[in-house]
Amino acid sequence: MIRVKDFTFNPFSENTYLLYDETGECIIIDPGCYEQSEVEELAGFIEAKNLKPVHNINTHAHIDHVLGVAALKRKYNIPFSLHQLDEPLLKAVKTYASNYGFYKFEEPELDSYLKEGEIFRFGNSSLEIIFVPGHAPGHIAFVSHDDRFVIGGDVLFRLSIGRTDLPGGNHATLLESIRNKIFTLPEDYTVYAGHMDATTVGFEKKNNPFFR
Ligand SMILES: [Zn+2]
Ligand SMILES: [Zn+2]
Repeated sequence: MIRVKDFTFNPFSENTYLLYDETGECIIIDPGCYEQSEVEELAGFIEAKNLKPVHNINTHAHIDHVLGVAALKRKYNIPFSLHQLDEPLLKAVKTYASNYGFYKFEEPELDSYLKEGEIFRFGNSSLEIIFVPGHAPGHIAFVSHDDRFVIGGDVLFRLSIGRTDLPGGNHATLLESIRNKIFTLPEDYTVYAGHMDATTVGFEKKNNPFFR
């Protein structure tokens, strides 16, 4: 069974997720830790639970979701993967990081690509990869059918949706992604979002103002 631990990091209040199971293996999704104290908070949890990080995967490559990747790669020597269509976004981060005050941002090396339809495995667990563009061109989400949740990134928020005014964003595409890929999941699935509180597929189908 997958356990989901969330952290909220950096001035964008970005949610970083650490997933682990009974084997002790863990993966990190969207590490937004930037300050040393934030990296230490994440590392402290890993140490306290005696977990073994095996991979860093990302839903997309906006700055608030990749600030901690280089530090974690260095600390744990783990590979970093995301969707190929978000690689240009990753490469662009260093060109605007200082505009947001992140003067010590370090571009992480990308090790492999993730594709829709693939099953990502760690420990005894597996996650289905779904392609949900609109907020970012290569945005993906990770679905656990065994434990009934989705790590959704910045696609669907509690009573809101991701912004589409950034490079590569498209409002119609985002709505389509949510309708066709998220709202088709069972209603009891928890949606762990990139910002703010978790929600469920059913609650958003009923109450999200963008879909009424
Ligand atoms: Zn984003
Ligand atoms: Zn974000």
